Amino acid sequence: MTVVAEPIYDSDMACIFCRIVSGEIPAEVVLREPDVVAFLDIQPLADGHVVVIPRAHVALLEELEPAAAEALFRAVVRLARPVREALGAAGTTIGVNNGEATGQTIPHVHVHIVPRREGDGAGSVHTIFPRGARRPLGEVGEAIRRAAGGLT
Ligand SMILES: [Zn+2]
Repeated sequence: MTVVAEPIYDSDMACIFCRIVSGEIPAEVVLREPDVVAFLDIQPLADGHVVVIPRAHVALLEELEPAAAEALFRAVVRLARPVREALGAAGTTIGVNNGEATGQTIPHVHVHIVPRREGDGAGSVHTIFPRGARRPLGEVGEAIRRAAGGLT
């Protein structure tokens, strides 16, 4: 499987997203809240490509404290319509590369909001995966429920 990496920013420095949060590095900020900052991606996939990050430096989504996770996704929900409307877009693709193996190049959780247009040539989230599932759904569901401590 080919993983398309996100743009490399400046990997030999301390976390660039933390430096944006601190104001050390300028960014086109569109939302600044106590626990969240959102700004335009410096290598946008489309006009209006926003990156939403928690102020707390954690690499993976599952490492976020519950309150930070709530603040992050509240901000994503709050921004989805303004991003779409400001750019006159038909919709948005919202996604997280969660872990280095997925193409996450900055180890600080970030949610992409990318405005989409009819005929923009980009696919859906489904198009990044080959059809690779082979195990029965019931078996996989049981494994996940067990790992999650008995969810039903
Ligand atoms: Zn960071």
